[in-house]
Amino acid sequence: MALQDESSMSKKKLPPVRPQRDQLSPDQVLCDFCTAKCCRYFALPIETPKTVSDFEFIRWYLLHEGATVFLEEDVWYLLVHAVCKHLGEDNRCGIYDTRPQICRDYTTDECEYEENWTYDQYFETAEQIDEFAEAIFQPRSDSIRSRKPPLLPVVA
Ligand code: SF4
Ligand code: SF4
Repeated sequence: MALQDESSMSKKKLPPVRPQRDQLSPDQVLCDFCTAKCCRYFALPIETPKTVSDFEFIRWYLLHEGATVFLEEDVWYLLVHAVCKHLGEDNRCGIYDTRPQICRDYTTDECEYEENWTYDQYFETAEQIDEFAEAIFQPRSDSIRSRKPPLLPVVA
């Protein structure tokens, strides 16, 4: 990193402060402080994988650009990171008047404004889901633990 003298650092523009939702005044709108997080992905619940072939399906999802899978409170979801084609560079909806019903129904009341994207389980690569499935379906004989040693004879 290049060193900066104190005078140039003091001139550096500070990034805008992102308020907490409970700090907004009545005339402020939460979305004005957000990078439109809700318009940059879609997520759908999927069946809980139970078999090796179910996990093969998930592996297939994860071979696609932008596809991830997460597990939250025992529900599995496919999450695709894909920006809506109508999101403008100003982070505003370009088809506001004709936006889909799901966008109309979505409100800031429970939105992901402060979401930090942590889940019970999160898979981004095919290798990760492979390892997870392997751990579940690994036969007992393949255990990484050493075999139990024989008991020592009892000395009278
Ligand atoms: S609804 Fe929430 S997540 Fe979506 S743009 Fe507004 S503040 Fe951001
Ligand atoms: S249609 Fe508008 S509100 Fe809906 S996801 Fe796209 S940019 Fe966001």
